[in-house]
Amino acid sequence: MKRLRLILGDQLNHKHSWYRNDDDDTLYFIAEMRQETDYTKHHIQKVVAFFEAMEAFANRLRDQGKKVVHYKLDGKNNTQKLGTNIAALVEERAIEKFEYQLPDEYRLDQQLKQLADDLSIECEAFDTEHFITGRNELAEFFEGRKSLLMESFYRHMRKKHDVLMTESGKPEGGKWNFDQSNRKKWKGQPQVPHEKGFRKDVRKTLKRIETAGVTTFGNIDPQNFSWPTTRADSLKVLRYFCEHLLVHFGDYQDAMDPDQVYLFHSRLSFAMNSKLLHPMEVIQGVIEHWQDNKSSISLNEVEGFVRQILGWREYMRGIYWKEMPGYARCNRIDNQKDLPGFYWTADTQMNCLHHAIKNSLDHAYAHHIQRLMITGNFALLLGVHPDQVDAWYLGIYIDAIEWVEITNTRGMSQFADGGLVATKPYVSSGSYIDKMSNYCKGCRYNVKEKTGEDACPFNSLYWNFLAEKREHFAGNQRMAMMLSTLDRMDPDDLEGLRSRARQVIRSPHDY
Ligand code: FAD
Ligand code: SF4
Repeated sequence: MKRLRLILGDQLNHKHSWYRNDDDDTLYFIAEMRQETDYTKHHIQKVVAFFEAMEAFANRLRDQGKKVVHYKLDGKNNTQKLGTNIAALVEERAIEKFEYQLPDEYRLDQQLKQLADDLSIECEAFDTEHFITGRNELAEFFEGRKSLLMESFYRHMRKKHDVLMTESGKPEGGKWNFDQSNRKKWKGQPQVPHEKGFRKDVRKTLKRIETAGVTTFGNIDPQNFSWPTTRADSLKVLRYFCEHLLVHFGDYQDAMDPDQVYLFHSRLSFAMNSKLLHPMEVIQGVIEHWQDNKSSISLNEVEGFVRQILGWREYMRGIYWKEMPGYARCNRIDNQKDLPGFYWTADTQMNCLHHAIKNSLDHAYAHHIQRLMITGNFALLLGVHPDQVDAWYLGIYIDAIEWVEITNTRGMSQFADGGLVATKPYVSSGSYIDKMSNYCKGCRYNVKEKTGEDACPFNSLYWNFLAEKREHFAGNQRMAMMLSTLDRMDPDDLEGLRSRARQVIRSPHDY
């Protein structure tokens, strides 16, 4: 039977059982399409990374003797839309069965279901064989429970998959979570090894994107492209992380420095989100390395890393499928302001925001705490509409795919789901940023001052946010202390803070 198998750009799973179960009548189809470059405005490095990875994947399948149709953006048969491309191929090649892997994005899931209904041939959907949990496993796990606490899901995952567990069924080290040990400020030491980069020449791919007139943003050095776009390169990044960065990963997980883009972070999110690496292979690789090097790498470094992948990553995917499509519209604390223009230029005097945004524009990367406690924190304190915050995060990062971007942005960062994902809003004044980073020393603003021309804008915005949104946090135990401090504040002092905050909110571009 003549079969057409679709491979989406984030389905580059070399180990999928498809590739062990095919024959001469199987045709694989992978395509660069305007429907994917244009559904939001992407960072140029993100588009380049996907196209490079897709091309390498198609070539590898061909090298293995498989039949592959790979449409480039400028291909003459490319209609730029998934549905029409597939319908045309089905007709031209007299295809008898259409097969696809379940997409991880609601938009594509709907589109493929519709396409399968419309095609007059047999269609079948397959699992991507990538995630550790099934699409609905989180919803089933939390069924009947009041809260969707990540920590309980994480413990369940540790037990179920026997990860970092002792033979007697207890967590390694006697504790589930070493988060408290993962909050060191980085003060120039230990030295940060250069990131494992690949000085790849991507000029051809870039030219194709530019010639097609795709609108992108951000910067790229096309002769020195440093993201892994093949499985072999992704494995090198994983090995490099284990050998050079893991040793300090947990300790400095939340630290920030103006001169350090990656610190001890792994840079593995693109490799995993495109499915070049399986999350369990990353977890096992790290644990095996730790087991061989227990005298130099402590458990908190490893547990901190495992929690991000076995816990947060799987959790976010489960939340996505549980809550979509409504999640994409939630705005439970009613934020309506515009995202300041400097999110697209880094042109601000606030040093922390300048560096977090500049990194993002230059490298399509910022680490978790920069995303959460600098750009996300500021947008939330300002009261920016989550649609605009979402569009920015979905476009700017190399790893931004909706299932993991939207849950982190609307849920964890913007509290737009009213506390489904985050048990309290992730907001802070300047003092948290000063505690975790080296930004404030070089800033035009004074982190210790609350009002006046030189006061750090985060300080007044923070108290203003609590006062303005307090009704949304009534009954939230984790907010009780902050709200009681707010209540004890001298009314004149509070008004001074709120007046300064109103100035910042009115014209954030002046700061
Ligand atoms: P490391 O710090 O080395 O962590 C290792 C891995 O853990 C990551 O590669 C990632 O796969 C996983 N991980 C860590 N934190 C999370 C998390 N909160 N949710 C899911 N997985 C996690 N991650 C994305 O992959 N795509 C996104 O679009 C995305 N958008 C985000 C938006 C906001 C507002 C925030 C606060 C976080 C977002 N994250 C996103 C999560 C996290 O910031 C990135 O996964 C991480 O920074 C990627 O860099 P790394 O590979 O060096 O990660
Ligand atoms: Fe950011 Fe305020 Fe520190 Fe400046 S002083 S870097 S604005 S936290």
